[in-house]
Amino acid sequence: MRSIIQKLALTALLVQLTTSAFAQKKVCITVDDLPVVGYGMNTAEDWRSVTQKLIDNFKEKGIPAIGYVNESKLYKSESLMPDRLALLELWLSQGYDLGNHTYDHIDYHKSTFEAFSASIVSGEKLTRPLMEKYQKELKYFRHPFLRAGNTQESSEALEAFLKDEGYTASFVTLDSDDYLFALAYARAFRKGEKDLMKKIGQTYVSHTEDKLKFYEKLTEKVFGRQIAQTYLCHANMLNADYMDELADMFKRNGYEFVSQSEVLKEEAYREPVTKFGNWGMSWLYRWALSRDKGTEVFKEDVDVPAFIRELAK
Ligand SMILES: [Zn+2]
Repeated sequence: MRSIIQKLALTALLVQLTTSAFAQKKVCITVDDLPVVGYGMNTAEDWRSVTQKLIDNFKEKGIPAIGYVNESKLYKSESLMPDRLALLELWLSQGYDLGNHTYDHIDYHKSTFEAFSASIVSGEKLTRPLMEKYQKELKYFRHPFLRAGNTQESSEALEAFLKDEGYTASFVTLDSDDYLFALAYARAFRKGEKDLMKKIGQTYVSHTEDKLKFYEKLTEKVFGRQIAQTYLCHANMLNADYMDELADMFKRNGYEFVSQSEVLKEEAYREPVTKFGNWGMSWLYRWALSRDKGTEVFKEDVDVPAFIRELAK
């Protein structure tokens, strides 16, 4: 009798070990500030090339990415730029999803609730009908600057508004400050400094890997397990050029790519936030603070290399 129980226990243990050994970690790649962050390179061709390269990489690496749109960037001197709107259509026609990132990238902590909610509503004017053309529904929202309310009241007011408008918020868990690398990269490009561009690109990928390892540790601390993660990056030349290497890095670390809807099935995203401040950081930090997990682990977070900060000044 005893040996049967032992055998059963052993089998259960083996099943558990096998499952965990083969269980894939999941990450959703989210791209903000669509159509493109140009850093002074704003011709129709510049923007098209960044968009096309991003999409080619998503296809090649099997990444079901989502892009978050600021519709104000579709205009120049109040005129709608059809070539910019066409870039959103490129995302949709190639099978990728879009979400609302407010009309003009307004900072919730520096604006009234009225102004912020109005910017959400005007942020869907062109995107929603365009998505309907492709049988898609605009339903995801990304907070600009990752600011979701610096008090319980302001946070709850926004949450209720989003719910009423049919939006689900996309919470970022992995943030590598890609915008600093992207600015440095764009400056190097304009100066024709190819070696420096390569150095910046490779540092971006290795820095993101270091951040990933830190965030996995933080995840373990908060939830006692790994969760499906959400990576924030931006629609710029750096990500267009390095999305393939970034994708290989995630794969090397045991990740498979999932869509926005898939990642939100993760139970952890229902974790309440009960601590508020004037911050715009990964939700893993907010959940850690809300669960009173201690701040010791925060010290292991990885800084952006000094030479990148210098180049991005
Ligand atoms: Zn943004």
